[in-house]
Amino acid sequence: MNIVIFGPPGAGKGTQSKFIVSKFNLYQLSTGDLLRNEINNKTKLGLEISSIINSGELVSDKIVNNLIENFVSNKTYKNKIIFDGYPRTLSQAKNLDDLLNRYDQKIDIVLKLSVSLETVKKRILERQNQESRADDNKEIAIKRYKTYEKSSEPVLDYYKQSNILKVVNGEAGITEISAEISGLIDAIKGWL
Ligand code: ADP
Repeated sequence: MNIVIFGPPGAGKGTQSKFIVSKFNLYQLSTGDLLRNEINNKTKLGLEISSIINSGELVSDKIVNNLIENFVSNKTYKNKIIFDGYPRTLSQAKNLDDLLNRYDQKIDIVLKLSVSLETVKKRILERQNQESRADDNKEIAIKRYKTYEKSSEPVLDYYKQSNILKVVNGEAGITEISAEISGLIDAIKGWL
């Protein structure tokens, strides 16, 4: 099965993706991690995108679409992908459907983690002390949340039409959320 995990910055997408990867033997495709790797390795792409990421804006659809195609086309990952941080725009959502279709795959479930802006601010400040991400400060976190509301929320309506969207309360504790997600995936697996 292929899963999309969706939600604002600080919703816990990365944490829950890692849980799903280990429990259900899937592969995590985090566009944020892939982009940060490019920046850390100082590649041509990395140099091009670092200021965009650090300002809390989205990099272009073209760049991320290319990044994910490498993954989707790889047989090792076929029907075993959890998309973390992608799609983030309506155009990316449509691209993902086309791409998966071309490789004889589809999305089986979209998990939306809901959290308030207050929680996002709190979590990002906590994360700032553990990881050193240049975009993890209060001001940029608010910007990323606003970018999410403007560009990414329309993606939800797109998935609502296809009935694969499941909303999870991202304000709950990590293990509680994992348990809920587990139940949702098990239920879907029964149908596949
Ligand atoms: P978060 O969900 O906490 O914002 P991510 O690691 O998913 O963190 O993303 C960090 C940044 O990487 C985003 O703010 C954006 O600039 C860029 N990015 C990640 N995924 C995408 C995407 N699908 N489209 C455009 N930009 C992206």
